[in-house]
Amino acid sequence: MYRIGQGFDLHRLVEGRALILGGVKINHTKGLLGHSDADVLIHAIIDSLLGALCLGDIGQHFPDTDARYKDANSVELLRVVLALVEKEGYKIVNIDATIQAQEPKLMPHIIAIRENLSKNMSIGLKQISVKAKTYEKQDSIGKGEAIAVYCNALLMKSNV
Ligand code: MG
Repeated sequence: MYRIGQGFDLHRLVEGRALILGGVKINHTKGLLGHSDADVLIHAIIDSLLGALCLGDIGQHFPDTDARYKDANSVELLRVVLALVEKEGYKIVNIDATIQAQEPKLMPHIIAIRENLSKNMSIGLKQISVKAKTYEKQDSIGKGEAIAVYCNALLMKSNV
């Protein structure tokens, strides 16, 4: 009746790109590099949902070799995966994500990110937790060269 899933993603932080997390544009001097809009948070959420459904990963569903996904809005990709959750007969119990970023400071943006995800995923604010941590200035994340996200999702059968 319950299915748990885990997701992880990392993107490089570079100049000349917009920083988008959970569908929210965040003012910063750098943004995430990727074939799509590189929304690392939504990508980790998608992988946690696909993992819970045992349906592979984001790269299988939206290959970065496919021109259709060039600069893709990750919110649209998330909608496709939410439709899969429903088609498989499940609903989201809750999602818990941790963003690892040395910069920018994300605390002021967490509520806007959760509200945007709640709205786009048609789930309550209490069903979507987003946390942010620095990397204590260690490794590439700590040097401000990348942002990573870990995410867990719990699904339950929708007909019970
Ligand atoms: Mg990604």
